Amino acid sequence: MEKTTSRFWNPFTETLSRENIRTVQLKNLRSLLGHAKSTTAFYENSLADIDPRDVSGWEDLKRLPLVEKKDLRKAQEGVGHFLFGDLLGVPPEEVTHFRQTSGTTGKPVYVPESWESWPWRVEIWCHILWMAGFRPGDRVFLPFGYNVYVAFWEGHYASEKLGCTVIPGGALSTRGRIEKLQEVRATALLNTPTYGIHMAEVAAEMGLAPRELGIRKMVCAGEPLPPATRSLLEELWGCDVYNHIGGTEPCAWGAMCPAKEGLHLLEPYFIVEILDLETKTREVDEGELGVAVVTPLGRRSFPMIRFNTKDIVRKGRAGCDCGRTSMKVQEVVGRDDDLRKIRGVLFTPVAVEELLRGEFPEVGEFRIEIERKGAMDSIGLRFETREILGSSDMKRLTSRLASRLKVKTNLSFDLDHVEPGVLERFELKAKRCVDLR
Ligand SMILES: [Zn+2]
Repeated sequence: MEKTTSRFWNPFTETLSRENIRTVQLKNLRSLLGHAKSTTAFYENSLADIDPRDVSGWEDLKRLPLVEKKDLRKAQEGVGHFLFGDLLGVPPEEVTHFRQTSGTTGKPVYVPESWESWPWRVEIWCHILWMAGFRPGDRVFLPFGYNVYVAFWEGHYASEKLGCTVIPGGALSTRGRIEKLQEVRATALLNTPTYGIHMAEVAAEMGLAPRELGIRKMVCAGEPLPPATRSLLEELWGCDVYNHIGGTEPCAWGAMCPAKEGLHLLEPYFIVEILDLETKTREVDEGELGVAVVTPLGRRSFPMIRFNTKDIVRKGRAGCDCGRTSMKVQEVVGRDDDLRKIRGVLFTPVAVEELLRGEFPEVGEFRIEIERKGAMDSIGLRFETREILGSSDMKRLTSRLASRLKVKTNLSFDLDHVEPGVLERFELKAKRCVDLR
């Protein structure tokens, strides 16, 4: 009973002093370095000049090389193991299962799990869900077939560990899922933002008000969740919606607390550095943008040291009204991969989503298309409205959209309105920006 009323999943680690957080991180880093060097050919080579015993202070961390997704892919082509190449940190017979990246940006990365590494991931997710108010007795509905993708498996196992009842909602239509969550009186949802919006649309078509379905909290995974989309989901479902950040390779490393201001870094389980975008050598100051470089300290099956996540975040400060002592990021701005240059202007698709969700509730699904026309780049937005509009309303909407897009992105968009329901719906991860150049 005492546990249920606690604000923290782990009152000890979540309120450690900054000094103690650093001490725990450095101790576990040294242990991870030794393990990685002695078990994988990849780190035996890349850390050849590093003696883990010499890593005694924070500056020593900067001497360790950064690792990117492409390095992991290359290492997995090595001779060590047919699937995990030169990156498997445990004997093959200790691998209990694997997950993989979605492969939307190339060949997938295969991530092996063991009976030691998987419970570590689940424990991390317990922190995330507890912060979002998941408690024993909640009925958690996951409206997906999870396949080999990790986030919903983590959420599933962590919900069980918390004492929730889990209802996996794979192999059902969206209508079937809505009927199911009504039948079992689900109180919590884990879904992608895209699917959260889609389910609310389908519920409305079924004559149901999503706000009255009894969902009290939602944790989103799989896609960026700009503030306006989070607010829209809260409005649609009448519940608290929480964000987190992470990836298949390092696990989730940041999460939102009830203060709903930025994300807590999940220290001391991870070392998260926020480095300047140009040189990636300098830790940025509070309020500055940087790229997150993450070292998960409990991943022996798949050791990862200074992984460049390519997530661009604005650095915050340590401490929070909620009582947690970990460092925070103020916001997640986008992905390094998503940054595009169009007619000399830096553009990120999240800016368009933020605008549409925040200021244009009448706009539903949308698609951004970038092409080269002659010598010029062009950018277009195809969009649906939630309801069919008369021609004068449509004209007003289009003109307001054009001007707000111009102000927000500094680019002139070609606008194309399509009938409601024409654009493809995404379930797991939306791909709303197509670059045809
Ligand atoms: Zn907090």
